[in-house]
Amino acid sequence: MALEKYNKKRKFISTPEPRGRSAKKGRSRFVVHKHQASHLHYDFRLELPEKIASGKIVLKSWAVPKGIPLSIGVKHLALAVEDHPVDYINFSGVIPKGNYGAGTVEIWDKGKYQLIERGAKSLKFKLQGRVLKGIYILAKFTARPRPGQGAPKNSWLIFKSKS
Ligand code: MN
Repeated sequence: MALEKYNKKRKFISTPEPRGRSAKKGRSRFVVHKHQASHLHYDFRLELPEKIASGKIVLKSWAVPKGIPLSIGVKHLALAVEDHPVDYINFSGVIPKGNYGAGTVEIWDKGKYQLIERGAKSLKFKLQGRVLKGIYILAKFTARPRPGQGAPKNSWLIFKSKS
């Protein structure tokens, strides 16, 4: 989900968040924002090309309701959300009432990461954060939703596979 979507959702006269611009070069960073919006969640963001063979660098982003697991094998749901601009990596502050995502945003962890593998439906990477360390996998749900149970199409799982 591209940066246009990020920009469309926000009114930059009333939110302190950065405008959505892509960058030309990535520095292999990640951030986890603790976002106290209507529901507390954690936003996991990886600095990556927008698409596998794209030169536009963005923050690929997932909302993780239960936070990033610290123990190996624990799987948490991660919902893919719109790409965020690279400048967002240092953002913290208050998104005022009435704006998209209103509430407080703080940096819960950040650092560098090494990309091990990227496919359309999975990412494997090694995090070198202050809190999060080790090899993690993000894998997109591939199961078809059962009738009456809308498995949302943006659902992924995040888990730690190795320290
Ligand atoms: Mn959020």
